[in-house]
Formats: sequence, structure tokens, C-alpha cells
Amino acid sequence: MAVELQQTLANVAGLSGTSLHTGEKVTLTLRPAPADHGVKFRRKDLKDEPTVDASIANLKTVERATTIGEGAVRVHTVEHVLSALCAMGIDNAIVEMDANEPPIGDGSAVPYVEVIRRGGIVQQEAPRRFFDVREPLHIENKAGSLLVLLPDDKFRVSCTQAGPNGRFTQFFSTEITPAVYEREVAPARTFVYYEDVAPLMEKNLIKGGSLENAIVVRGDSVLSKEPLRFPDEFARHKVLDIVGDLALVGTRIRGHVLAVKPGHAANAELARCIVKELAKSIALSVPRTMPHGEGALDIQEVMNILPHRYPFLMVDRILGFEGETKITGMKTVSINEPYFIGHFPGHPVMPGVLQVEAMAQVASILLMKLAKSSSRIGYFMSADEVKFRKPVFPGDTLFIHAELIRARSNRIAKAHCSCVVNETVVSEGDLMFTFLDK
Ligand SMILES: [Zn+2]
Repeated sequence: MAVELQQTLANVAGLSGTSLHTGEKVTLTLRPAPADHGVKFRRKDLKDEPTVDASIANLKTVERATTIGEGAVRVHTVEHVLSALCAMGIDNAIVEMDANEPPIGDGSAVPYVEVIRRGGIVQQEAPRRFFDVREPLHIENKAGSLLVLLPDDKFRVSCTQAGPNGRFTQFFSTEITPAVYEREVAPARTFVYYEDVAPLMEKNLIKGGSLENAIVVRGDSVLSKEPLRFPDEFARHKVLDIVGDLALVGTRIRGHVLAVKPGHAANAELARCIVKELAKSIALSVPRTMPHGEGALDIQEVMNILPHRYPFLMVDRILGFEGETKITGMKTVSINEPYFIGHFPGHPVMPGVLQVEAMAQVASILLMKLAKSSSRIGYFMSADEVKFRKPVFPGDTLFIHAELIRARSNRIAKAHCSCVVNETVVSEGDLMFTFLDK
């Protein structure tokens, strides 16, 4: 199971241009950042150079563009640079600017992709964090946006952009990889409807706006400096924006976004929804590391791996591994175990479900070793063919065996497990696990 590593820029790189709203000159510099740093914007033009985390928690407004902020500090129109960083595989970076928004460039993400290319990309010694979609999420809003996120091994976006009265209705669907993004998505430019921008132009709110950096749709005609770059350029730009807005989640996404009439508000709402789901799965896991080597693990090492604690830690030690697929653990069943008090008074036996729990704990140590990474852990999903053959009494020593019999699609694993006392199988079963990122 290959582990994907986090990436940052190899070198500092930057570009200058005009900011959309103020029309002033702005210089943007991308800087490398350490693992687990994420993307942060830094306002060079303000006292003490404050930073703003590219996080959905910092979302401020979604009118026409995505604005984030912390305290009184704001950064506008972050979606295109975030889209390029995310899609090109940059997990950690500082986006330094001497204004409150990035240069608009030609309204596409190409200028940012070029800066990333110039800076270069390096791997870092930390696994990437993923949000794996396990069940569909969806959001809908009054503006007619509908976004659905479905499970998928890859990050895909499929989008339909419907214009007024059905004009310019387009569809585009793609997996997001750096190569595909650079070729098929990044060049798609911002488009605006004349009715929407005319009042803003009158109020002088988009001083930097021109046909140099946006396609203007007026009625049936398309006004732009150069011809459309793709027949479905609008839908592609919507995909660009979705990638940028979902970058505010802060982890990569393995899932398929289906978007009908998306917009920054809807995209942000989906990002919030994802972060909520992510928080649930993080609550289930704690940091742990897997020791190297084939040898036995003592109780301390077991506790470094498993989150369970007395009285729910069902493994005293790991006696050893056999190759990649077998493991044996041990548990001394003491009369002091709390469950004997009530199970059953006068005739204490170890509950069968706790034997299954012991199997699951031992098997998950094997799965962690197999995953060779502390970023993915096996969660116990189901048990089949469980049989309790003999009672387990206080004073017994339980030997817990687990053998991996199937690892399918690197998402699901099956282990045959048994508990043995005095060389006799007392319980057994087939346990299924699913791999989740921490
Ligand atoms: Zn955009």
C-alpha cells in the first residue's frame, strides 16, 4: 500500500499583476512551508505581516469570489490560487501578497500553475491526509445549486453549468490530477454576465476588471479578448472554482463531486459539510506509531499502537509476527477483570464479545504493520462465522491468532482469527476491516 507524501514548493517563486477589485499592482510570492502547515496567506502590506489560514473556518464572504479572514485581516479572491496549489499537488505553502487579493492574471489558473512549475515541487516526510467519502454527502441551496459528493478512489469533479434560459449550458467531467488539471482545467477563464457586472463597473468596484481577465456574456454573445479556449470553457472554470473552494477543507478528498449550477456559496457549504464529517472520523482515532521489525511487542509498545486502555485493552503483548500475514498476541485473563463481577456472579466466564474484541485488536496491529504507515488504520467492520467453542475462565491465558486471508482493493481486509487456551480453540471468527485515513 503506497503512502502518498505531502508536498511543498522546492523554491520561492512569484508573479506580479493587477488586482481585480482595486486595480492596483500586486506581487504574489509562493514560499515553501513545513509538513502539516497547510496553506496560509500572508499580507506583506500590513503591520506585522499577519497570516490567514486557508481554512473553511476562516470563510467570510462568497459574493462573486471567495474571501477569507482572521480578525480584521481579509484576503479576497483566493479560489484560483488555491485551486492551482491543490490540483498541482502542493499541500503546504505560504502565499505572500502585498495587497488584499492575488493578481487576477487572465482570469484563469494558468499564471499560478506557471509559478508553481517555476518553484518546483518537493516531497516531504509526512503522509498526506485524505478525506475518504464513505457515504454520499449533498447540499442544495435556493440559488438552484446542487452538489453531491460520492465515494470514489480518485478525486473527480463533474459539473454542469446552466446559463440564463438554458443558454451556455455545458457539462465537463474529469479526474483531478496535476497533468489533467494543467491541460484541461487551469486555462479556463472566469466568465461573467454583463447584467451582473455592469452595476459594479458603474460603481467602480472592479477597477481591475477588463476583457483581459474575464469573458463577458451579454445576451447570446460572448465578449473576450481571445476566442474561447474550450467549447465548454465555462463548465471547466466552474470545476476550477470547485477545486479551489474545496481546498479550504485542508485535506485532500477522495470522492466524486457532482455539481449542478455550483457557485462559491454552494462550494463553501459542501466544504463545511466535509469538515464536519472529517471531525467525526478524527474523533475516533489518536496518534500512534508502528515500531519497525518482526519482533515481539510489550504492553507499552502495544499501547503506543492501539488507542484502547484498561479495561478495554484486550492484548497484553504481541508474541510475534509470521511473515506479512500472521500475528499472535496474548492476554492473561485475571480474576480482577471488571467484567467478571457481573458475568456471571458465582460462575465467572469471559464474555464472548470480548474475545472477538481481542481478535480485532490483535488483527488491527497486523494491519497497521502491513500499511507501513501510521496514517491509515484498520477499523473493525464486521465478523462472520463466529463460534464460541469453550468457556474462558479467570486465570486462563488467551493466545490470540490472526491471519490475513484477503486484502482487497486496499480498502478492505479480512482476517481469520482464533483464541486458544491450553492449545484448544475456544473461539474463532472471520473479521473484516476497512482502512481509513486518520
Ligand atoms: Zn473563478
